[in-house]
Amino acid sequence: MSETRRTAAAGFATRQVHAGTDWAEASPRALPIFLTAGFRFDDVDAAADHFRTGAGFGYTRTGNPTIDALERRLADLEGGAEAVFVASGQAAVSVALLALVGAGDHIVCANQVYEGTRGLLLDNLARLGIETTFVADVADPDAWRAARRPTTRAFFAESISNARNDVLDIAAISAVADEHGIPLVVDNTFATPYLLRPIEHGAAVVVHSASKFLAGQGAALGGVVVDDGRFDAGRSGSLFPHLVAASRSGGPSVAERHGGRARIGYLRETVAPRLGPSASPLNAFLVAQGVETLSLRVREQSRSALTIARWLAERPEVARVDYAGLPTHPHHPIARRYLPRGYGSVFQATLAGGEPAARRLIETLEVFTHMTHLGDVRSLVLHPASTSHAHLDETGREAVGVAPGTVRFSIGIEDADDLVADLERGLRAASLARPEVAVEVLG
Ligand SMILES: *Cc1c(COP(=O)(O)O)cnc(C)c1O
Repeated sequence: MSETRRTAAAGFATRQVHAGTDWAEASPRALPIFLTAGFRFDDVDAAADHFRTGAGFGYTRTGNPTIDALERRLADLEGGAEAVFVASGQAAVSVALLALVGAGDHIVCANQVYEGTRGLLLDNLARLGIETTFVADVADPDAWRAARRPTTRAFFAESISNARNDVLDIAAISAVADEHGIPLVVDNTFATPYLLRPIEHGAAVVVHSASKFLAGQGAALGGVVVDDGRFDAGRSGSLFPHLVAASRSGGPSVAERHGGRARIGYLRETVAPRLGPSASPLNAFLVAQGVETLSLRVREQSRSALTIARWLAERPEVARVDYAGLPTHPHHPIARRYLPRGYGSVFQATLAGGEPAARRLIETLEVFTHMTHLGDVRSLVLHPASTSHAHLDETGREAVGVAPGTVRFSIGIEDADDLVADLERGLRAASLARPEVAVEVLG
């Protein structure tokens, strides 16, 4: 019904919701924010068609033009076939894995992963009957091969790990996964597609916390799953029966309808909208705005991070710096192969003065913001042992490289000189926090 028909001679309450809703067609330069729960159908056939095939837009939980535009941009930048954008990085990891595994299945995961991912695997997926084996030496293909079981349905790792900066040899590990017809899922949050595109090296699926570098401004949460579109039903169909079985009503299978895009098609139709971690179109807009400056930010942040990591490594107050860009890092040779544009900007340093020194450093810093986030335009600092890694025991923390004196840095876009000056002040304060030095000073 046209607006004129709906509002002509209508009452106030009718006009307050229907007047002015036939807006003019226009071609906005910026991505329009379709902040709407649903979309009008042109006619009954269009509605039926939408429900049958998913064509067009009906309801924002299953599709929205703002979100669709961002998904196409991120799929393009990652060199993938198709992407699904969801409410957070945690949601992206959840739906990516739940599109692959079910009760009785098994996942092999790098030991160095975001703690939210470890919790998802150990607390949530374990309760659904999905077991995980963690691999300590992520660089060793044989360790992954040995951890695989006949029920393994996915390998999972971060391209640059949180926060010890392990760098994944994607080609080597995806080759092991591929021997068995299963996908390597890579969390590419720390590297971003500007520095590294895992699909080009053999990964099948890429996930991101878009809340971090992709958004960049730290104003919105989001997550994305990107698929390479190369699911091979002939080779892997028996491992993923939900992709090749006839539909519940006896219709064609997901693989018959989506071909190589079966994994992401299933994720879009059956996993994300059912579990329901739908993103807001407003957040999709904010992430899309961020992505437009991704290369500039990440290039600058990586350059500053290298400067700062080198500077920290020279300081007597610092016992260890875990940054893949430093030749002292065990994965530096892998990093040089995979990260020619820069080594990223999130890393950790461990202070010789232990926890008291870390505490003083963090509380003295003024340019760095003390918070749990990363990939922001502002530089951030956090004490993992008492926050993100507090629930692990000391052995568990040691295994992932977190000591009482470890501090995690995320380098922003401020002038590197200002960051170094801030750290210089912080480290001077931290050295006074060392009991033996404090006695000396007092004596
Ligand atoms: C932050 C983060 C996540 C979780 O993302 P959210 O957007 O916070 O839900 C997953 N993986 C990595 C590597 C992260 O840094």
